[in-house]
Amino acid sequence: MMKKNVFLLIVTLLLTGCGDTDNKQNKSFAMSSLSSSTITAVIDSLTVKAPAADIELLKRGVNHCATFWTPTDGTDDEFTAFCMANFAATPEAKAQLFAKLQTNLEILYGNYNKINVDLKVPLHVTGSELTDIDMRFGALDPFAHFFDDMFASKIAFVTLLNFPFYTLEEKNTLGNSWTRAEWAYARLGDLYTARIPAHVSQALAQVSSEADNYISAYNIIMGNLRSEADEQLFADNMALISHWGLRDELKSNYSQGVKGHEKQRIIYEVIKHIVLQDIPQQVINDTTCLWKPISNKIYHGTEEIAAVPEPDTRYKMLYNIYRATIDVDAYSPIYSTYLQRAFDQQMEVSAEDIVKMFTDFITSGQVKQVAQLIETRLGRPLEPFDIWYDGFKSRSTLNEDDLSQLTRRRYPTVAGYEASLPSQLMQLGFSRQKAAEICAKVKVDPSRGAGHAWGALMKSDKARLRTRVAANGMDYKGYNIATHEFGHNVEQTISLNDVDNYVMNGVPSTAFTEALAFVFQKRDLSLLGYNAVSDEAVALQALDIFWGCYEIMGVALVDIRTWQWLYEHPNATVSELKATIIKNATDIWNIYYAPIFGEDNSPVLGIYSHMIDIPLYLPNYPYGHIVEFQLEQQIAGKNLGDEILRIYPVGRLTPNLWMQHAVGSDVSVTPLLNATQQAIDQFNSKH
Ligand SMILES: [Zn+2]
Repeated sequence: MMKKNVFLLIVTLLLTGCGDTDNKQNKSFAMSSLSSSTITAVIDSLTVKAPAADIELLKRGVNHCATFWTPTDGTDDEFTAFCMANFAATPEAKAQLFAKLQTNLEILYGNYNKINVDLKVPLHVTGSELTDIDMRFGALDPFAHFFDDMFASKIAFVTLLNFPFYTLEEKNTLGNSWTRAEWAYARLGDLYTARIPAHVSQALAQVSSEADNYISAYNIIMGNLRSEADEQLFADNMALISHWGLRDELKSNYSQGVKGHEKQRIIYEVIKHIVLQDIPQQVINDTTCLWKPISNKIYHGTEEIAAVPEPDTRYKMLYNIYRATIDVDAYSPIYSTYLQRAFDQQMEVSAEDIVKMFTDFITSGQVKQVAQLIETRLGRPLEPFDIWYDGFKSRSTLNEDDLSQLTRRRYPTVAGYEASLPSQLMQLGFSRQKAAEICAKVKVDPSRGAGHAWGALMKSDKARLRTRVAANGMDYKGYNIATHEFGHNVEQTISLNDVDNYVMNGVPSTAFTEALAFVFQKRDLSLLGYNAVSDEAVALQALDIFWGCYEIMGVALVDIRTWQWLYEHPNATVSELKATIIKNATDIWNIYYAPIFGEDNSPVLGIYSHMIDIPLYLPNYPYGHIVEFQLEQQIAGKNLGDEILRIYPVGRLTPNLWMQHAVGSDVSVTPLLNATQQAIDQFNSKH
């Protein structure tokens, strides 16, 4: 589970913020109502008034401020008066303004976040009975009017005028030599990049929610599937969601011999029908029809009936998101496309860099070698669905029941688990004092769900670790997840409390907090007193992560290519979009996967549900593993506590600059590829 990150929060706010009420007629971004002569005159006057100011920064600030200024904010004369009165003319005045802005941002974010956490307690924490009124309070969003308020009060304009925005490229190049204060000023400049009217953000939220509902309610009734020999292979009441449920069932059949292989082939046929949209409408969420996916025939009892393909609903969902996104673009002068928002803004890596990194990875020499290893283990040639090969999971020699017995004894209650946290940190190399300091900022609650970590957004508040502890104590699964969440809490606490400026708090993106959570989770057995994991387990894990990245990077490339195409074809129809996704999926397959799997034209890379309901989110998953392996390589043989305390207080630099600080190089796939090669060599020498 990921943390509540200020950065992502800001992005969410952009999408949910209520804006001005006048309906913008002009769709291309033309929010500014000011004449260019007014803007030039303001720049000239300010240059005279503030001779010490950096002229380039001054121009940039006035222009940014002007970009967002609408008639409701004032006339040209009022704009001029505003800039003259609010420009911080000296470095001292600017520093003072910055300090006040960031103090008040911490008050707003910190308390809004605390309200959010507190109102959702009945939803997230066990105890009282969950009622309708809890759901209503839980659905309130304290941040909903933040941007509206900031623009209406002109605090946004003061910020835009004095702390201008820098592009990702500028941050990565200029940022190398910036002082910490300059970095903090630049982060403040990231705050106001769009001014989206309420009806536009609501329209996007609406279609996103429809896509989410479509995906969450798309089940295949597996008991109704038949082989061509009319055999039922799956249990009667097994309903699997596309695509995760289908994929996980496919994975679980690797240990089921010939029968398992037959089931996998049927699931693969189902997946192809979903992507190609020739799946009969009658077999989605329907318990009455029997379906032979290989011949794509459907039956009532023994009688064949006419199959009516699902209309292009799957692609209509994505199309609707695209249309609503284009409307958001019109109010986003700084990141004016969804690609820019997903990459430059959210991940802070350009789409070009991601494509290059992923392409390097999936064309690496390790792919062929791992594929050979899998063929040897399977005893058959690979088939396209083996992109989900699941046989690298290490089977621990430790018995899970024994482990649960131990964890139940050690952690009989939530309070007992919370009390153990400082000594866990000391085992990982933190000093007694630092361990106590961090754990004083982490509160453990009994979770309704599997658990999560929710960070604080002000130093006076605590991070929450939600975990499950049954009446007879915490079982091993719960302990394993809690160790992951604790890793998040440690990152959240250090990167809030130990970072110099509040606006620098956090990590570059979710990948960087997930990386630390995985570092903790991997050490759960050693925290229980077991010896370090075996070399074989380490090798298996590297192979498992490598193969998972190989799969999802291909899907991410399809996702990216599709959005690039959409922006090149703004008038595309749903059926053109469908044809393009299928073409992109098969093109990517034919270039990078077909040579490994020996079958051309598989559309399987088009199945991922997030491509439909949360487009362009997928690259975050493999990126997280890339970061994780760079961190692991850095901390090998060192004191983990010392390294965490050296690395994480740097706060939210860009990913590349953060990684240069952490390990001395840019974000790179090399450590993961090296770990994979080492694992391959280890297996080849043994077997
Ligand atoms: Zn996590």
